This record gives sequence, C-alpha cells and structure tokens, in this order.
Amino acid sequence: MRTLLKNGRILDPSQDLDEVSSLLLEDDQIVGYGREFENVEVDETYDCTGMWICPGLVDPHVHLREPGGEEKETIITGTQAAAAGGYTTICCMPNTNPPLDSPALIDFILDRAASPEAGGVFVAPVGALTKGMKGEELADLAAMKKAGIIAASDEQFPIQNALVMSQAMEFCVQLDLPIMAHCEDTNLTRGGSMNEGSISAMLGLRGIPRSAEEIAIVRNCLLSLHTGCQLHIMRVSTWGAVEMIRQAKFLGAPVTCEICPMHFTFIEDHVGEFDTRFKILPPLRTQVDIDLIVQALADGTIDCIASDHSPHASHEVDVPFEEAPFGSAQLESAVGVTLTMLTHKGVLSPLETINKLSTKPAEILRLEAGTLKPGETPVAQICVIDPDCEWTFDRHKTFSKSKNTPFDGMNLKGKTMLTFSGSEIYRDALFPDSRYTLS
Ligand SMILES: [Zn+2]
Repeated sequence: MRTLLKNGRILDPSQDLDEVSSLLLEDDQIVGYGREFENVEVDETYDCTGMWICPGLVDPHVHLREPGGEEKETIITGTQAAAAGGYTTICCMPNTNPPLDSPALIDFILDRAASPEAGGVFVAPVGALTKGMKGEELADLAAMKKAGIIAASDEQFPIQNALVMSQAMEFCVQLDLPIMAHCEDTNLTRGGSMNEGSISAMLGLRGIPRSAEEIAIVRNCLLSLHTGCQLHIMRVSTWGAVEMIRQAKFLGAPVTCEICPMHFTFIEDHVGEFDTRFKILPPLRTQVDIDLIVQALADGTIDCIASDHSPHASHEVDVPFEEAPFGSAQLESAVGVTLTMLTHKGVLSPLETINKLSTKPAEILRLEAGTLKPGETPVAQICVIDPDCEWTFDRHKTFSKSKNTPFDGMNLKGKTMLTFSGSEIYRDALFPDSRYTLS
C-alpha cells in the first residue's frame, strides 16, 4: 500500500532539510521525498498544503504512572495522549510504584506499550539508577540495559551522596548508559513548594531556592567531566543553571539538558491565589530567568524540549497548595505552546523547533527516531503540524486521564494534525476531510 503526504513543508533536521515537497510511504516505511512522487499511483493521499511534515516527535521525559498510579495515567492513555501530541517515541520515567528497577518491570512496560489498545507510540523506558530509587545501592543496570532501558535516573529522588553518584557514573560509563538527572539539593528544598522570593514570602509558602538546583547541577557536571559519563540534565529552570551547563560544555563535559514548556511560558507570579496547576519542580522562576532561557534555547545551550508530562488525578490536586503534588499533564499542549511561545516569536526557526522536539532528543538518547531518512527508524515515524492553526486548549478534549493543566483555556497557534507510526495513529478533528482522499 502506498501513501502520499502531498505538498507540505518537509522539515528534517537530520538531513538539514527544509523544502516544500511530497513524502511517499510504501506500507509502513518511508520511500523518500520529492516532487516526482506526486505522479506515482497511490492508495491514499493526505494534502498537507501549508503544513509541516516532520519526523515524529521524541519526548525524553514522560511519566506514564504505570504500574501503581493507574488513577493518574496508564501506558495506554499516556501513549494515546502522546500520539495526539505528535510524539512517536517517548521515554518513560522510573518513579512508578514499584519503581522500574528490575528487568521484569522493564519487560512489563514494553509489553503494555506494544499492546493493540496502546497508542502505537514507541516507549523507551528509563530505569531507576538505584534500588528503589533510595540513593544508596545501584540497581541492576546491566540486566535492565539488556531488557531495553535507554538511560538511568532516580528522577525526583536525586542521589544526594556525591560518592554514590560518582560510582553510578563510573559504572554507567562501562555500560555506555546515559544518566538523566533531576538536579536538586534536597537539604535546601525540603518542604518548599514554589520559588523562594517575595511572592513565596507574601503567600506564606516555604520557598525553593535557585541555589538548590544550581549546586546539584555543578556537582553533577563536574562528576560527568571527571568520569566521562554522559549526563542529561532534566528540566532546567534558572539562568544560573543555564550558565553552569554552558560552562560545563565549554570544559568538554558530555552534558546536555532539556527544558519543559512551563519554564519558558510561566513565572512565579502565575501561582497567584495558590493555583496548584502551576506547582512544578523545579518551580516557576522569574521573567529574568525566562529571558536568559530563551537565549540559551536559541544558542543551543539548551539542547531540547521535553514535556515532563506529569499527570495527576483531580482529587490529588484539589488540596491546599503545600500538599499538592508537583507537575501536570503536558503531552497534548507541548507543540502548540512551543510554536506559540518560541517559533512564532522568532526564537527558533521551524527547522530548529523540530530539532529540539525530535531529532536532538533522539540523538542524545541514541534512539532510532527523529529522522525521515528511509530505513533509519523501525517504521515510518511522521508528525504533520499546521503551524498556523489557531485554537484554544481544552482539557476536556484530551486523551490523558489527567485533566490538570495550566494551559487550559489558553489560545495557541500551531497544532498537531496527523501522527504516523508505521500507519496513521492520530488524525486531528481539525484536519479537513477534503485534504484526505482515498484514490
Ligand atoms: Zn519528571
């Protein structure tokens, strides 16, 4: 069966490609792109005029909550939400219950993700770095790597002991396994729920100082520099953090980092009247931080954009601010928010935007993804985006089980229209039927 994605702007950072053309698929594989394919006899045609045809998006940082948190999200609902967001590969975090610290649990995740009810998205599991994510004894990383983990992380329970982290890095060098690190000195943050500053003081909330993040980043970057361990720093939030990472890269440390949309969109003021949708870790900071973060996105210091999709059930967030969990649902808003806040404001070109959302995270975590080159992904992984579609984000029209999101009601410009993973796994209701013809 042949499928033609016709007359779109093909954006593929892996080939430095930005041109209006058509992309041909034969069964579940990409054949190639070119105007000549428009004359080939095909079984179905998608008219992509005015749209971007990109490699399927890659999210390095997603919480699927299964096992143990099925009231928040499941592997099935989470992968469906990912497909609706344009993602074809997502990395799932190990802070489940129990934590993903054994090969049996990795097998479970991969089996569930491959089930027919799931969204058709590739799930790349991240294993726990230490047993039970307790920060003491290393988990069985070699066995988990054989089972399919692509990195190791203790996520929101970062290793506090520098000796343990140093040993973890030395071991991961031998295994050729990247470490993903949420950087936080928990002695400085305990009990905190928002950025430390005048607003936390006014609201009477315990603050989370920026130094808690920056100290942990400096330590981890130095350990990475001296051990040679590949380190990916998760969701940076302060200008100081960005400067530390810039310096580490300058010194030659194998360090990369990500940002999530909330940290380039909102500031501490948005917490307003104790709005738990704006509670995130690390916390929302200030406009000065956003201004420098935007520069760092443009100059490449910040390598990629992760959703940090952190779904919670509504009863968990309908509580006083201090008691609410950190994080919110993000997979289905990330493209719209990124285009609205960065691309349409001229911070990132369309090609750079897709690089941060697809090709670069795939390269960092060595995933077979993030490219439209024939044969370089297991099946054709494609995302079609209408960059000019103006819409209002409505949490009730999402696939995620979690309806807790700060982007609800926000006007966005740019929307995922189609997602392919071998075949079509998502088509947006706004994609006009007249643009899709079975010939
Ligand atoms: Zn996370």
